[in-house]
Amino acid sequence: MATGKIGVSTQNLFPIIKKFLYSDHEIFLREIVSNAVDATQKLKVLASSGEFKGDVSGLRVRVKADKEAGTLTVSDSGIGMTQEEVEKYINQIAFSGAEEFLEKHKDDAATIIGHFGLGFYSAFMVSDKVEIITKSYKEGAQAVKWTGEGDTEYTLENVEKEERGTDIIMYINSEEKDFLEENKIQDLLTKYCKFLPIEITFGKKKEWKDGKQVETEEDNVINDTNPLWTRKPAELKEEDYQKFYRELYPMSMSDPLFHIHLNVDYPFNLTGVLYFPKIDNKFEIQKNKIQLYSNQVYVSDSVEGIVPEYLTLLHGVIDSPDIPLNVSRSYLQSDRNVKKISNHITKKVADSLTDIFKNSREDYEKKWDDLKVFIQYGILTDEKFAERANQIVLLKDTDNRYFTLEEYENLVKVNQTDKDNHIVYLYATDVQEQFTYIQAAKDKGYDVLVMDGQLDTHFINYTEQKNTNHKFLRVDSDVIDKLIPKNETKETSWSEAEQEEMRDVFNSQLPKEGVMYMVNFEALGESADPVVITRSEFMRRMKEMAAMNPGMGFYGAMDDQFTLVVNTDHKLVKGVLADEQKEMAAKLEPIDFEIKENEGKQIEIDELNKDKKDEEIPQVDKDRKKEYSDKVNELKKQKQELLQEYGRGNKIVGQLIDLALLANGLLKGEALNKFVRRSVELIK
Ligand code: ADP
Repeated sequence: MATGKIGVSTQNLFPIIKKFLYSDHEIFLREIVSNAVDATQKLKVLASSGEFKGDVSGLRVRVKADKEAGTLTVSDSGIGMTQEEVEKYINQIAFSGAEEFLEKHKDDAATIIGHFGLGFYSAFMVSDKVEIITKSYKEGAQAVKWTGEGDTEYTLENVEKEERGTDIIMYINSEEKDFLEENKIQDLLTKYCKFLPIEITFGKKKEWKDGKQVETEEDNVINDTNPLWTRKPAELKEEDYQKFYRELYPMSMSDPLFHIHLNVDYPFNLTGVLYFPKIDNKFEIQKNKIQLYSNQVYVSDSVEGIVPEYLTLLHGVIDSPDIPLNVSRSYLQSDRNVKKISNHITKKVADSLTDIFKNSREDYEKKWDDLKVFIQYGILTDEKFAERANQIVLLKDTDNRYFTLEEYENLVKVNQTDKDNHIVYLYATDVQEQFTYIQAAKDKGYDVLVMDGQLDTHFINYTEQKNTNHKFLRVDSDVIDKLIPKNETKETSWSEAEQEEMRDVFNSQLPKEGVMYMVNFEALGESADPVVITRSEFMRRMKEMAAMNPGMGFYGAMDDQFTLVVNTDHKLVKGVLADEQKEMAAKLEPIDFEIKENEGKQIEIDELNKDKKDEEIPQVDKDRKKEYSDKVNELKKQKQELLQEYGRGNKIVGQLIDLALLANGLLKGEALNKFVRRSVELIK
C-alpha cells in the first residue's frame, strides 16, 4: 500500500472546502454521477473508434445506498482508471492562488467546485471517507483502491475487482445522514440526473400489490437518456412537445401556447426547447422556470443573465456546454459567449413568432390574448426584440378584431386624426363598464381598442413616445365631439350667468365623498345624451402611475376627478334652465340687483383713484372697497345656497345625473336605491 500527499499548494484544502461550501451540499451527487456518465461515454467513444473491442450496449450507472454501512455508492462500467491515472487525475489538484479564490467565492460552492475541477472532491462535503475502487478498460489492468478521509493524506493499494469500471463509495458523515434516505436520493437524482445520456438506476422499480408497494425485478431507471431537445425537430410531432412539457412540469394545468426548438452548433453549442406558457395564475409562472442544463446535466433553474429578462417568464430547457456555469451572475452577463447566446435566443424567439404570425395568423390571433404580455414585456425591456416584434404586435378592438400597428394606423388614420394632426387611438379598459362611451364612439364612426392587459398602460406610454403623432385616449376621457377635436365643435349658446347658475344647480346633487366633479356646459346636439361624465386622460393616467409607483404619492392621494358635461342642446336640460329661471327669478333678482350695486360702488372707488399708486390711495377708500367686496361675496353665497336648495329639490336634475353615473357604473348602494325609487315616482 502506498500513501502520499495530494498535490495542492495550499496546506489543507479540505477543511476549507467543507467550511465554505455549506450551501449546495446536495450537488455532490450530481458531480459523482456525471463523472460516472462521462467515464461511460468515453468508453463508448473508444468503442466506436475501434480502440475498445468489448460490448458497450446497455451500460448503466448504478446508485446504491447502504444504511447499515452508512455508504452511498456510485458504480459505473466506464473506462476506469489505472494507478497512474488515479495519481494524475485525483491526486494532483494543481492550482495556484487557491486561498484567495476560496475566500472571494466562499458563498458559492458551484463556483469553487467548477473553478478547480473539484467535482470528485465535492464528495467530501458529505462524507468522512471516500473510496475509489477502479479498474481500467485497458487490457491486463490492475484494479486499485484509493482512500481519502478529507485531509491531504490518501492511500492507494492494489485490489481485486472483476469488472471494468469504477465504484465511488462515500461514507456519509453523521450530520448528513439524510443522503442515505431513499426518498432524498430519489429526489436528488430526479432533479439533477433526469436527462443524463446514460441510464442511471437506483434500486428496483416498485408496484402496488395488495395495497402495498412491493419491489419488482426491474431496475428503477431514473432518467430519460434521449430527451426531446436532443432530438431533431423534423422527427418530432406537436404531441411530443406537449408530452415533454408535462414531463418537465407535471403539476402544470394547461398546455403551452407555442414551442421553439433551439438547435445551434456554431459558433456556440446550444440546444433546448422553450415554451410560451398559457398563464392561468401568477403562481405557476413563478414556479415553473426554464431549466438550465450542460450536456444534459441539470445545472439550475435560474437563467437570469443568460436569457433576457422578459424571456425568463418562458418555460422549457436550455442546454449549452458553452455557458460558463460556475461563475457569478455578474460575470455571466459580460461573457461574450453568453451575450451571443442571449442574442441568438432573442432572435430565434422573434423569428419563430414571426413565422407563426405569417404562416398561421388565425392561430396567432387566437393565442394573442395570452401571448400579449410576453411580447409587450419584451418590447418594453429589450430594444433588439422591440425592433423585430414591431411587426407582430397586435391590437384588439372592441369587436374582437386584431390588427398589426400598421394595419390599425391605416384603419383609423382618416377618421381619427385631430386638428393638430395626431392620430387618436381610442381605447377602453373595461368593455362592459365603458359600454356607453364605446357605443357613442362607434356611432361616430370611430374604432375603439381594448386595452385591459397588465402592461397596457406601459405599452401605451411607450407607443406614444415612439410615435409622437399618436395619441391614446380612453373613450370616456371627453365628450364624443371633443375626443378627437376637428375645428368644428359648436359653442354653447348659454350665457356666462346662465352657466354659473346651472353649475350650482347641478353641483347640488353630485357625489362629494372621495371624488371631485367639475361641471361644464357643451352643445352636444339634440340627440346626444343630456348629461355625460368624462374623466381626464392625464389625471387618470397620473393616478394609475401613482398606484404602481409609490414615489408619486401626491397623485395617488388625490380624489378621483371627473367632469360632468351638461348638454345644453338637450330638451330636458333646456327645460331645467327654463324652470329654474321661472321658479327662482323673484328670489334672485333682488340679490342680483344688490350684487350689481355693490360691484358698481367698487368700480366708482377704482375710478376715483385710478391714477394713484397703491400707497397713495386713502385708507378710507380701501376699507370701503373691502366692505363692498365682502358684501358681494356674501350675496353670491346667498345666491348659491338658494340655487343649491332649488337644485336639490329638482328631480329631473337628480335623475339626469344618476343616469350618467349609472352609465359609468358609478351609481351604487344607497344612491342606486334612491335612483330606483325616484324613477318609479317619475313614471307614476
Ligand atoms: P472533472 O470531472 O471536472 O475533470 P473531477 O474531480 O470530477 O473533475 O474528476 C477528475 C478526473 O478524475 C476526471 O477528469 C476523470 O479523469 C477522473 N474520474 C473521476 N471519476 C471517474 C470515474 N467514475 N471513472 C473514470 N475516471 C474518473
